[in-house]
Order: sequence, then structure tokens, then C-alpha cells
Amino acid sequence: MSHLMAEMPWTQYRRRIDAGAVVLLPLGSVEQHGPHLPLGTDHLLATAVSADAARMLAGRGRDAMVAPALAYGYKSQPHMGGGQAFPGTTSLDAMTLIGQVRDILRELHRHGCRRIVVVNSHCENQAFAWEGIDLARREHPQLRVMRLEYWDFTAPSTLDAVFPDGFPGWALEHAAVVETSLMLHYHPALVDMAALPDEPAAAFPVWDLCPQPDGLVPSQGVLSPARGADAAKGARIAADCVAGIVDAVLRDLR
Ligand code: MN
Repeated sequence: MSHLMAEMPWTQYRRRIDAGAVVLLPLGSVEQHGPHLPLGTDHLLATAVSADAARMLAGRGRDAMVAPALAYGYKSQPHMGGGQAFPGTTSLDAMTLIGQVRDILRELHRHGCRRIVVVNSHCENQAFAWEGIDLARREHPQLRVMRLEYWDFTAPSTLDAVFPDGFPGWALEHAAVVETSLMLHYHPALVDMAALPDEPAAAFPVWDLCPQPDGLVPSQGVLSPARGADAAKGARIAADCVAGIVDAVLRDLR
């Protein structure tokens, strides 16, 4: 049985919503992820993690469905996604993203859905996703919504194993070891390991300048080296994230 809303007829969807299914809504971006990963990396990973979580939730007695991802996200920030200068990075104004999240939550509520998990994979979306959730709840206070970044469930022991020389931090992980490993696990045909750039990690000041200065971001768009990425690391990180999301939903989204 599919857990992807896009792959089921409305009749099956309605039956599952009526029986109390949770809906996971992946939030992503269309954003450069270096020369070795596709522009859809964020929404592809959010969807893949959500689909695994839905399968595991069903196995633990809580039916779950994954709505089609919101594939576009808020504007890429230089220090966490390389910024807006790269061709292919295709972003929304904040008001647009807030409106999209609010509208989809309102529609899910209209269908009878009362429990939603917003699975974010693009740091820049965070506050605007929250705003969309808040606006939807203002109209529909019965909605209960969990909002999360999937990578936060990665266990410290996993980070120690994946980064024996020290973890560079989630923002600098853009298109680096974690995302490359996860893509090798979920979508290996979309990764070109021969194209991995050799640039050093970005060194950002603690302030932002608008417009973004030339030369601030590594030219290939990878914010710290992706060398050492492999599918086994991706599988381990994914397992942590999927299990963590499932546990959170079972514990806190009653
Ligand atoms: Mn991103």
C-alpha cells in the first residue's frame, strides 16, 4: 500500500483520513547543491525521509500519508545554501511560502485531517513555515501540527562516526557529507561522485551583507568538502532521522 498521497485515489485518501491518518508535508527548495547533486536535493530528501517515516508509523499502528512536497522554498542564504546567485536556485518570497503552507494546511483540514507533520529540509523555510502553520491554526484551532527539520534527529554517536575529524555544523553541511550520503542512499542515480569539487570549507563572517559580496561563497556551491560521503553513512543518518520522527509523532502528536 502506498503512503504517497499523489499515488492514491481520493476514495482511499478519504478512508484513511476518516480513520485518523497523520499527513506528513515535506518542505524543500529548488536550490543549487554543488556540481554533484541535483537542484531538487532538499525536496527529494524531505519526501524520502517522510515516506520512510510513514511506512514505519503504519507498522507501529498509526497510519500516515505523505502529501506532495512543497518543492520551492524561501530564498537561499549564502551561509547555509550558497545564496541566490547560482543559476537553478529558484526561490519564493516569504509571503508566497507562508501562503502556500497556510493554504495546504487549510485544505488538509477541510478534508478532515487534524494531525499534520511539516518535515522541513531547507533551513531558510523555518520561520515562514511556522507562520503558515500559525495562520492556518488561527482559523482551525483543532489542527495539531508538528514542525521539524529532519536532520535534527541524527544521533550524536552517528555524527561522531560520520565525522571523525569533527562535525562542521548543519549550515555548512550544505551539499556536503550528510546531503551527499543521504542522496547516495535514497537516489544514487542522481549523484555524480566524479564531479565532487575540491574547494575548502567556506569561511563566513558572523554578519550578512546585502547585496551578497562577490567571492563569499565557494564557486562550486558546496559549503564544506563532501569527500567521504557514501551510501552506508546515508543509510545510518536516514535511519536515525526516520526513527526519530516516528518516535516524536507517536509521543507528541496525539
Ligand atoms: Mn537548502
